[in-house]
Order: sequence, then C-alpha cells, then structure tokens
Amino acid sequence: MRIAEMNWMQVEEHVKKDRRAVLPIGSTEQHAHLSLCVDVILSERVAVEAAEPLGIPVFPVIAYGFTPSFVDYAGTVTLKLSTFCALVCDVLDSMVRSGFTQIVIVNGHGGNGPAHGAILEWLDRNRGVQVKWHNWWNAPATMAKLKTIDPVASHASWMENFPWTRVAGAEQPQEAKAMVDLERFQRLDPGAKKLLIGDGNFGGLYQRPDADTAALWEVAVAETRSLMAMGWD
Ligand SMILES: [Zn+2]
Repeated sequence: MRIAEMNWMQVEEHVKKDRRAVLPIGSTEQHAHLSLCVDVILSERVAVEAAEPLGIPVFPVIAYGFTPSFVDYAGTVTLKLSTFCALVCDVLDSMVRSGFTQIVIVNGHGGNGPAHGAILEWLDRNRGVQVKWHNWWNAPATMAKLKTIDPVASHASWMENFPWTRVAGAEQPQEAKAMVDLERFQRLDPGAKKLLIGDGNFGGLYQRPDADTAALWEVAVAETRSLMAMGWD
C-alpha cells in the first residue's frame, strides 16, 4: 500500500508487526519521445504493485536523481551527487526513526547507482538495519525475460515504453535506432552527448506491442515482490 493511504497512528501500529518498507527512487530526465518522468512512474508503479498483496508501505517516490549527462535536454533535473546521496540517507534516517528496519529501495534510474555506495556507508552508522538496493529493470529474472523478447533495448527504447509512460501528441519512430557507442558517450560533455544521441534513445525499437511489455512487467513485479517478501535473515 502507499504510505499516503495511512495516517501516523496506523504506521506506529504497523511497525510493531512488520518492519519492512519500500522507497522508490526515480529521475526526471529526457526519455526521447516518452515522458520525462519515465523513471519516476515505473519505479513507483512496480513498487506499489509488488508491495500490494504483502501489505508493505511504499513511501512516495524520490522524483529527482543524479543525471548530469542529460542536462541539455529541456525538463531534465539533476541533483548534485552530494545532495542526492544526502537526500536518500536523510529519508532513510527518518524511515528508521519510524521503526522501519528492513527497507527495499526500488531504483528506476541507472545513474542513481552512486547512492548505493552512500547507503553502504550509512549502514555502518545504522547497525542492525537492512537495506536492499533493487534496480528493477535489470534484476536477473527481468533481464532474462527482456532478452527473450528483444535483446536490443536501452534507455528510452521499447523497454520503457508502456501505456503509462507515453505522452499525448507524441509519435514513436517506427524504425529501430542503432545502438549508440556507450564508451564514447561516457567520455563526452553533456552538449556533445546530446549531439551524439539526438532524440535521447540509446538504441533499439522505440515501441513493441503492449503484450510484450506487459509480459516483461509481470516478471518485474513478481521479482520485485519476492525481494520484498523474502531474504531478510
Ligand atoms: Zn529510464
């Protein structure tokens, strides 16, 4: 359930029986022809659907992340790495103060990875707490399913194109895009990066039939759910 559907007294009672909670993390950044908030929408949605039958509270998604490479695209917002890591750790501090000591971070943006390092440091100051860092889109079962559908997939390609990440008035190109040279991409400044990747898709088809992405989504929800349910010993 979303923690938005609980009041503080209910949370106080809830943690007496179950110390698990979920924190989704996204990023507001260009996703080619898809919504700027793809990583926000998908991380929160997979977290909420996965947690629902388990009755685990899901905190509001952190909608801003670390995305310095896309700053030349309108609508993109990045936090300084130090700000982002501090933000995540501050939220964790308060979750622990509320009584949650088994926390799943459902991350929707690859660039947010450095915050995982900050959490490993944070755990030294929070002995007894457990935090799982879960990149929902490249976890083993989800990635294996993706490969059976279409191994050519990337940022802003079909793998992020769901009915709930498309925007009104935007047509998806029909042709697959050639994969960008990721090594080259990494070494360039944000302006040169934009020239290299153009619309922002890193490669692959822009859209596949909804049945394909629905099948991928089903695996992602199940995999995320099993991480919340098990493995807290
Ligand atoms: Zn994304």
